[in-house]
Amino acid sequence: MNDLHRLGVADLAAAIAEKKTSSVEVAEALLARAKQHDHLGAFLAFNEEQTLAQAKAADARIAAGGRGPLLGVPLAHKDIFVTRGFPSTAGSKMLAGYQSPFDATVVSKLAAAGAVTLGKLNCDEFAMGGSNENSAYGVVRNPWDVERVPGGSSGGSAVAVAARLVPATTGTDTGGSIRQPASFCGITGIKPTYGRCSRYGMIAFASSLDQAGPMAHSAADCATLLSVMAGPDIDRDSTSLDHPAEDYTRLLGQPREGATAAQPLKGLRIGLPKEFFGEGCAPDVIAAVRAALDQYEKLGATLVDISLPRTELAIPVYYIIAPAEASSNLSRFDGVKFGHRAAQYDDLTDMYKKSRSEGFGPEVQRRIMIGTYVLSHGYYDAYYLKAQQIRRLIAQDFQNAFEQCDVIAGPVAPTVPWKIGEKSDDPVANYLADIYTLPGSLAGLPGMSVPAGFGEGGLPVGLQLIGNHFKEAELLQAADAFQRATDWHKKSPEGY
Ligand code: GLN
Repeated sequence: MNDLHRLGVADLAAAIAEKKTSSVEVAEALLARAKQHDHLGAFLAFNEEQTLAQAKAADARIAAGGRGPLLGVPLAHKDIFVTRGFPSTAGSKMLAGYQSPFDATVVSKLAAAGAVTLGKLNCDEFAMGGSNENSAYGVVRNPWDVERVPGGSSGGSAVAVAARLVPATTGTDTGGSIRQPASFCGITGIKPTYGRCSRYGMIAFASSLDQAGPMAHSAADCATLLSVMAGPDIDRDSTSLDHPAEDYTRLLGQPREGATAAQPLKGLRIGLPKEFFGEGCAPDVIAAVRAALDQYEKLGATLVDISLPRTELAIPVYYIIAPAEASSNLSRFDGVKFGHRAAQYDDLTDMYKKSRSEGFGPEVQRRIMIGTYVLSHGYYDAYYLKAQQIRRLIAQDFQNAFEQCDVIAGPVAPTVPWKIGEKSDDPVANYLADIYTLPGSLAGLPGMSVPAGFGEGGLPVGLQLIGNHFKEAELLQAADAFQRATDWHKKSPEGY
């Protein structure tokens, strides 16, 4: 079969099940394509032998009558998920060549469903960043304009889908790292409720925020992946929610209760936080988001003005809490228990110092220093404790808002993707770009990015949808209804 790279997850699974192609043929074609587009920097590692063995096993399951929505479908994982048979580096020199003896739960669940691991994907070092420029293994290029960033930290995951190297990928989102690269690359991504996907085997950045999720072209494909990825893992992850697994595809294509086929979202109240539409957001982004909201009105939804009054505080709060947790999580990389060890040193202290200075890149070192500072005696109450208190208030703002609406909508990021290098020596400029994704992360809420059109320079713009805890199925239903009425999610960058 030709043009296999044009098929999404559902179409590929069907083509394989109907024997129009085989999992092996698909894996071979996409491996060749991924290598051909090496210049994008999306992939960090392949293991052809293992990939083809998995594909063969999937074909055998199909020959024996096996069926499943992911059976034989190739996927690729952000290099934050430890994956047997591949190096697992978190985009850091600290973990160069590290081979995990086990698979992350998300990886093993997808593999058990018959998905085939095509490779590992580039990301910002330890998922710290929003442009993928912080990877120790080079920048990732946005296929919509290769001079521009793909967003981050799951930049490789977004680019691999956008450039049609693989139909879907895994990502992680601590403060926006699924939603923002999805927005920048014109694909769909969802970060579920905190605790919904197991963090076991997901290299930790900020444990109270880190969450895994799928990235694909359509909300429907994301729903298929998330149904496999999510679910309790309480024996192995103490923050995993003891809440039964769900079928996130169950509401797709269904009108809401009391709605009609012509207006499937009738009754859906979409809240528009005034803080998300202020002067900080670029006019081209606002225009695309507004046009998407007009479409939602046509689908029957009503728009409600709401306020999330502490939005601005999300940046200082996140950039205290996330570095604090990171400084603690990253203490294990000391050249003894884990990670790179310097070749030469004088004594134990010097060994730690040299190993960590060589192993960690500048952004990671900056965050370790901020984190250590805000947790230190004398500053803990002033910074860390205060930040935790405000985090609680931010979460409360959302609960107040959800009394007036079912879903919150707005931009994912204040601008379209910027030029590679443009913000590299200004960490604060990078942090400010996270303004619309951080509040939902701090509140542990599910959020997604849905392709909503194009802004300046023909660059993609995503619409962010945020739901209350455990409302993933409703979010996906709302995104899917939009995608049945529009084709932004079907567009590809020229040449891909
Ligand atoms: N851009 C944010 C940061 O730099 C979010 C990263 C993430 O979600 N992993 O921390």
